[in-house]
Amino acid sequence: MGNIGRGLRHIARAVVDYALPPRCPGCGSIVDDDRQFCLSCWSSLHFLDGPACARCSIPLPTALPGGPVTCGACLAAAAPFDGAPAAVAYGPVARTVALRLKYGRRTGHARLMAQLMARRLAALAGDAPILLVPIPLHRWRLWSRGFNQAALIAAELTRLAGIPHDHHLLLRTRATKMLRGQGRRERERIVAGAFGLAAGAKEKAAGRHLVLIDDVHASGATLRAAARALRRSGAARISALTWARVVPDALMTSNIFDFARVDSDMFDERMTG
Ligand SMILES: [Zn+2]
Ligand SMILES: [Zn+2]
Repeated sequence: MGNIGRGLRHIARAVVDYALPPRCPGCGSIVDDDRQFCLSCWSSLHFLDGPACARCSIPLPTALPGGPVTCGACLAAAAPFDGAPAAVAYGPVARTVALRLKYGRRTGHARLMAQLMARRLAALAGDAPILLVPIPLHRWRLWSRGFNQAALIAAELTRLAGIPHDHHLLLRTRATKMLRGQGRRERERIVAGAFGLAAGAKEKAAGRHLVLIDDVHASGATLRAAARALRRSGAARISALTWARVVPDALMTSNIFDFARVDSDMFDERMTG
């Protein structure tokens, strides 16, 4: 299909999107507004805003007195970033939204994800000015998919929060096979050295707080490899922000979304972003 055919298909898609009623991004049921979950999907999301490890942001069962606390894994080998918060825990609804963005080309979902990630971004803010750095795709994968979902999310965060992003700072120097189904050690081995700094990255990163952006934080191997590459840039601080994080079931019980804590204003705001 030529460029004209592709262009017409995009226009047709835009018209169809406009004409159809808005649907819940989690289950597809009809809702009042775009980028709004139905009540059932909304209440099934687990927002990760409770106590967490100061290094890797894995949820901790309780807030302990005496300042920042580090999880057992980070005590043994500290994660190479100062915090890796996610908007929600990885579950059926969070997974559907991420997959529809990545493989279903529902690029509008990037805005929805960014809306719920924005408040975690605000919590990361400190003295150094933030620069968002989306996890790059290798050019082969970028070519076959046509877009980088992490770059779309970063662009939406820039639009929402006015914080700049740079998708030329970090390079994917090597194509890596899928990490799914690999053990922890094997994942680390696969992604080690898969990232590098672009020419001029040090000038861009100097004195900045670099925040890696990705859709899903699974084992964290990719984020750690990218953070290690960014370490060489001379940035003041490095952290990571994702849409959804895989959290072991054992850590979830104390994090179940607590309706009693939520007043109606907050609920409305969260329902619509
Ligand atoms: Zn739904
Ligand atoms: Zn940790």
